[in-house]
Amino acid sequence: MMVLYAYARLVRGQWVVSWCPFCGKRHWHGAGDPKDPPQLGLGSRQPHCVRQRPHSVYYLTDDPVLQGRRYREDDFERMENS
Ligand SMILES: [Zn+2]
Repeated sequence: MMVLYAYARLVRGQWVVSWCPFCGKRHWHGAGDPKDPPQLGLGSRQPHCVRQRPHSVYYLTDDPVLQGRRYREDDFERMENS
């Protein structure tokens, strides 16, 4: 399974993917409990176009540089060590 990064911006308490790396459309994702930091809502999610594209998964990030890149386990380690 291929996992792609999707850049998301926080808009009115929701994460907005302006350009889905699978379908090119916009998807909105809840950022979770308002008491928690919204960054907890980032991470692996199913895009809303998953019905047309079975098994598609993306990894929400607030880093625009990662948009559309393929997710790799090493990226995790790099983030945690930086
Ligand atoms: Zn999509």
